[in-house]
Amino acid sequence: MKDSIGRIELADCFAREAACLAPFAMHSGASRGRRIPEPPHPYRGPFQRDRDRILHCAAFRRLSQKTQVFTGHQLGDYHRSRLTHTLEANSIARTVGRALRLNEDLIEALSLQHDLGHPPFGHAGEDVLDESLREHGGFNHNRQALRIVEELESRYPGFAGLNLSEEVLDGQRYRGDKTAAGPKPLLEAQVVDAADSIAYDSHDPDDALQVGLLQLEELETNPMWSEAARRVRARYAQLEPLELRRSAVHELIDWQVSDLLAATSQRLAERGIDSVTAATGCGVTLVAPGAELLAMKLELERFLHARVYRHPRLLAMRRQAQDRLRAMFVGYLARPELLPRSFAKRTAEHGLARTVGDYLAGMTDRFANQEYRRRFAPRT
Ligand code: MG
Repeated sequence: MKDSIGRIELADCFAREAACLAPFAMHSGASRGRRIPEPPHPYRGPFQRDRDRILHCAAFRRLSQKTQVFTGHQLGDYHRSRLTHTLEANSIARTVGRALRLNEDLIEALSLQHDLGHPPFGHAGEDVLDESLREHGGFNHNRQALRIVEELESRYPGFAGLNLSEEVLDGQRYRGDKTAAGPKPLLEAQVVDAADSIAYDSHDPDDALQVGLLQLEELETNPMWSEAARRVRARYAQLEPLELRRSAVHELIDWQVSDLLAATSQRLAERGIDSVTAATGCGVTLVAPGAELLAMKLELERFLHARVYRHPRLLAMRRQAQDRLRAMFVGYLARPELLPRSFAKRTAEHGLARTVGDYLAGMTDRFANQEYRRRFAPRT
């Protein structure tokens, strides 16, 4: 349907979804809307707008300089950053969502949002902020993502935060507390969760090999990797180690996505899921790998935890990052006049400790290192 000057009307977004999406998908027209009501956009649906708001926010761009597993230039520039991890997870989630006829716009908004709350230096940084804010409610990257999109981003004159649709906020609320009783999240949010896991279970072995924390022979002792490598060798008999590695990573993604689609479709069919309410109220997570692959994924994750995430080289970098962040937390508490004005004016309402936490959490690895050296490093 077009209006008088030939623009496609918003109704087409709803009509398109009605024609394409499965009955258990979240349809934009059924959204609970935004905290502050806004007029509909002439040609973008509500979840498309959410996706764009997230993509254009400062916290999203900062993901390019934030640690996924490996920090910055000390280990070269091959490995994933928080941003490239997010884009890989997003791509996988959209593939899964389209195959299941779910709402891709909502999936994209949720996946671009999912890691926005990570502080500098990954989980090492998160642990320091959690410990520093213990008496003020602690720190968690999932909850921090909500603080960012609900209040910290300042991009629109009419409201603080991004004023996202309730379904996009709900997806992030669920990530913060997955053990909560009550209905399960929308299938779109379940897809993003599964895609996040597929992305890191595939790219972390690749990065670990590239930066030399792991040797191919060691990884071959893991059943999931060796099965992926076996499948590749069955197609290509003679491969250089590097070629094998790259093909095995692709195989890992393809295998996990195919398994996820098969296992999920089977659950949907067996339970006769025919609506959003049926999907969220059935008491189980419907978008999940099959039991056999799930066991292999858990074993791969244990392997990576022991051999990669706890590798002495990473632990040394982790300690240095934590010492710096701790010194900065104490430093800004002692000298709040160093806070930028936009944060300083939040202290009256949110308290100094939380405000310092928000400021530090927003920093990229690079900016945190720079500010540490400039203001807080011991003078020699
Ligand atoms: Mg992630």
